[in-house]
Amino acid sequence: MDDLVALCKRRGFIFQSGEIYGGLQGLYDYGPLGVELKNNIKNAWWSSMVYENDNIEGLDSSILTNPLVLKYSGHEETFSDPMVDCKSCNQRFRADQIPKECKPEDLTEPRMFNLMFKTNVGPVDDGENFAYLRPETAQQIFTNFKNVVDSTSKSIPFGIAQVGKAFRNEITPRNFIFRVREFEQMELEYFVEPGKDEECINSWVQKRIEWWEKQGVPTESIELYEVPKDELAHYSKRTVDLMYNFPHGLEELEGIANRTDFDLGSHSKKQEELGIKSQVKNNRNSNSKLAVQNEHGDWYVPYVIEPSAGVERGFLAILNEAFVEEDLDDGKTRTVLKLKPHLAPVKAAIIPLKKNNEEIVALSKSTKNLLQDLGLGRVMLENTGNIGKGYRRQDEIGTPICITVDFDSLEDNTVTIRDRDTMDQTRLKISELPNFFINKIR
Ligand code: ATP
Repeated sequence: MDDLVALCKRRGFIFQSGEIYGGLQGLYDYGPLGVELKNNIKNAWWSSMVYENDNIEGLDSSILTNPLVLKYSGHEETFSDPMVDCKSCNQRFRADQIPKECKPEDLTEPRMFNLMFKTNVGPVDDGENFAYLRPETAQQIFTNFKNVVDSTSKSIPFGIAQVGKAFRNEITPRNFIFRVREFEQMELEYFVEPGKDEECINSWVQKRIEWWEKQGVPTESIELYEVPKDELAHYSKRTVDLMYNFPHGLEELEGIANRTDFDLGSHSKKQEELGIKSQVKNNRNSNSKLAVQNEHGDWYVPYVIEPSAGVERGFLAILNEAFVEEDLDDGKTRTVLKLKPHLAPVKAAIIPLKKNNEEIVALSKSTKNLLQDLGLGRVMLENTGNIGKGYRRQDEIGTPICITVDFDSLEDNTVTIRDRDTMDQTRLKISELPNFFINKIR
């Protein structure tokens, strides 16, 4: 973990938020390379959900959430963690995360602590007009169910996907970006007919494992954890967690839950007419019937399967898998991030052999533009004048290829391509570069 944290800071992936004022616990800022990697992870998820499935639509809902949404979802009452204080070290912990050093006799009885952040809405801070910062992106997917069905004519089974910030006032944020107070989720709510739910959750578990494999998190390093019945969230019939061996231990990367008809049932009007199977709060405020008709014209509330993954936990797992320290033949070592090319923050670096040679620099710039215009991500000019150092710098941030422009390039329009993983070098015509690059990055 220390190596990853150091690399993230040194090369501009992740900084502590508000660092110049001593920071704020559980909050991080993503630097020039971090923002690229994060965007690439989110785009890969979005593409695999929304673009590759004709029955999945996207959504981007507000972060500030009407308290009624979180009242009927059950969050106001139950989204809490048990908290204990240690009288010896004067620290506060989640009751299931007490360090070994604290003795049981020093601990207070657990008290429940609600994890939602509240904020004032409008000019008068009278405690009446407030909203929550959403603790998960899922709830506004449910409240928009009818809007999406009506505007897209979708029928069951279909899904709604959303990527966005979520906020939890975690009692003990820790382990770098693993447990933070502001994070991003990639959530799919997939609506199915009751009875098809059990088969459906199995298929999503499988699909999600395959997706992680494509992002460089191999199936062998993921363990399935079948959440025991007595630990299930109140809405869940079954939850399978994908556990990953993080640098600090085996923990949840993504959760896949069968939320039954709890959510749509909770937010619906006319609940009594819908034969809802879950235990829901009597809803006196909703003006929308969140149900669909079967082939006989009878109304029912669909069940929902939810794969929910954290972007930060994905970021950490992907970096951890990609991070390699290699011994070289000359006795030196190099740090390489063997990121999948589609996730790499920089797709290619163009390195002019001489940083002050106008012709070489001009050809380097036009080569950069040629590749940049393909729209596959960031291509950069690495004009430091030291090729060896340029290669090392790019290896360390995971750039799949370096392209060197030299004196021969001015004569014959060829460049040297150097591969990050094999370090092999080949000569290629600039006219053949776009095709080569597309194949490499896609
Ligand atoms: P945990 O038990 O670790 O607190 P959870 O079961 O409460 O997690 P979910 O509510 O299932 O988490 O949220 C779905 C996903 O969101 C998690 O699998 C995780 O990737 C991510 N996530 C949840 N809480 C945090 C957090 N505090 N920091 C970073 N990511 C988080």
